[in-house]
Amino acid sequence: MPENGTPDAATDHTRSLAALAEAFASTDVLERMAGTLAILLYQMECSADGTYECTAFLGSGLEALVGSIPSHYSPEEAWDAAVHEDDRAAYEAATASLEEGRPVEVEYRLVGYDGVTRWVSDRMHPRPHTDGPVVVDGIVVDISDRRVAAEALAEAQDRLAYIAYHDSLTDLPNRTLFQEHLEGALHRARDTGAAVAVFFVDLDNFKLINDSFGHASGDELLCAVAARLKHCTRTSDTVARQGGDEFLILVPDVGAARSVPKGTSAQDSADEIAWKIRKVLQEPFVVSGIEIYVTASVGISLFPLDAANPETLLKHADVAMYEAKDEGRDRHHLYAGADGDALRQLSMAGRLRRAVEAGEGLVLHYQPLVNMEDTSMVGVEALIRWCDGERGLVQPNDFIPLAERTGLIGPMSDWVVEQACRQAAAWRVDGLDLFVSVNLPASFWQPTAMRHVLGTIESFGLNADRLMIEITESAVMEERGGAMGPVLAEIHQRGLKLAIDDFGTGHSSLGRLSQMRVTTLKIDRSFVRGLPDDPNAAVLVTSMIQLAGSLGLYPLAEGIETEEQRRFVVERGCKLGQGFLFSRPVPAEEIPALYPVLTPSSSVPAAKPA
Ligand code: C2E
Ligand code: MG
Ligand code: MG
Repeated sequence: MPENGTPDAATDHTRSLAALAEAFASTDVLERMAGTLAILLYQMECSADGTYECTAFLGSGLEALVGSIPSHYSPEEAWDAAVHEDDRAAYEAATASLEEGRPVEVEYRLVGYDGVTRWVSDRMHPRPHTDGPVVVDGIVVDISDRRVAAEALAEAQDRLAYIAYHDSLTDLPNRTLFQEHLEGALHRARDTGAAVAVFFVDLDNFKLINDSFGHASGDELLCAVAARLKHCTRTSDTVARQGGDEFLILVPDVGAARSVPKGTSAQDSADEIAWKIRKVLQEPFVVSGIEIYVTASVGISLFPLDAANPETLLKHADVAMYEAKDEGRDRHHLYAGADGDALRQLSMAGRLRRAVEAGEGLVLHYQPLVNMEDTSMVGVEALIRWCDGERGLVQPNDFIPLAERTGLIGPMSDWVVEQACRQAAAWRVDGLDLFVSVNLPASFWQPTAMRHVLGTIESFGLNADRLMIEITESAVMEERGGAMGPVLAEIHQRGLKLAIDDFGTGHSSLGRLSQMRVTTLKIDRSFVRGLPDDPNAAVLVTSMIQLAGSLGLYPLAEGIETEEQRRFVVERGCKLGQGFLFSRPVPAEEIPALYPVLTPSSSVPAAKPA
């Protein structure tokens, strides 16, 4: 707008300037102020065709705002051309309103010919007039600093808001933002009649991955999981990280809530989505060059079927997730309503979780594994017990299923392996030549977990042949895809003993047994119990011993309680055994007194009951 600001030009228009200068003591003062503050004062005449001409100008020169002007431009053209494209509409609208005689203020950017973009505030005051061009007094102020500061502030505020609402690792919305989205979704659903689904996704055995490969790999896996979850949902859904290995998914419209019968279609859709979520996690993840298999337990709650507000919906999805864990993990579960048993289990699971996390209240007892020919102790089986504050000493059969259902079995088994290794190392120092056998759950029958176990043995400086792993027949037979091949080779090469526990109670494939390089078959005590009188038990135990022999494995008879049972199995070639005849499971400190030769007794246990 202003004409090129030379002092000469200004003096040419003293009459017009007088109007602007009225409020000030002198032109000198104006000039000084304009020079200091990067203020330009101008007067222009706007014609009806939209063109204008600057008739007066006062200030530090146009160059201060747009740089030096190319020679082919008039000052007015140069000014107009410098207006930032994005601000042009506002600039033109302001100019247009002058026609109506209204003063106007507009902020816009000028893209200078020196390559610098500056923000200016342009205030224009049209004078009252009747005929001819509109005369406007104007003032332009460089407000770049203020705008930059304001933008930086806005950016910082945006950033802060982002941080407050997002998870820093995965960049997913956090629980707070999830809850806001959920509130919004419920609000809309009340109007539209849509059903809303909340999915609570918890990875199974995540701690193992963290422990085995380190936190950096764990983090990498979580990011990869987040990406897959996002990929398998729609943009209108919200995938959030609740914390740790827990994710939340909001699907704001899973079918119509008012469908008949009530909610059925919503449940079907939610079920379908849950399958989809679990399917995308099934493909192995490659983290730090290692293939990792992940499964998840998913709990689902539906609005309005299961709850009417965000908090309860989230709580019920959480409960349903625990139910999925309860049923064995790697599955999804629709909230089934509160029943007392579920709550009791939750409270017990809470106490067990605290015990596992604190490593307090769990204890291992050891039962001798005996060479039954001379009753010398060759090893011990580590058997866990839990001192529950509310129930006293709890036997494993009463809490292992709960631990398995809730995923606590993972950290608990870590603890067992560590504790058993520590004990084996201590006994070795004391001169006791024993191997320690640990029971591992089915979920450990996978490469990541087994590598973790091998790592723990190594960290205690133990020879792998000082440890035996017991795994149940069904866990081994369920293995799919041959993923265990390389780990089995490693287990075998390191000399780690591998036993099939409770043999005879599952369905073994002989091919699989020899492929697995098992060292020991533990004949389940339900068969031994009937010996020697029950003809079925006699035939079964005899053939199991023979089978072990023909596969090159050691048979070990569990639950030997009487001298007759001991004699029966020894005569058929089974040298190894365990049972109350030799000793009940006892605390670690009682083992040295039993070592190396136990005195069998048919009636009195060799050690006091555990
Ligand atoms: P299991 O691995 O078959 O362990 C042997 C069970 O038989 C032990 O029961 C032991 O006390 C019992 N037993 C041993 N000799 C005799 C006998 O002569 N007569 C009778 N009636 N019982 C005998 P426990 O300690 O109650 O353990 C039960 C099961 O719990 C174990 O069966 C095992 O499957 C599981 N378990 C124990 N500790 C752990 C553990 O640390 N991790 C896992 N995953 N499972 C464990
Ligand atoms: Mg066992
Ligand atoms: Mg057993």
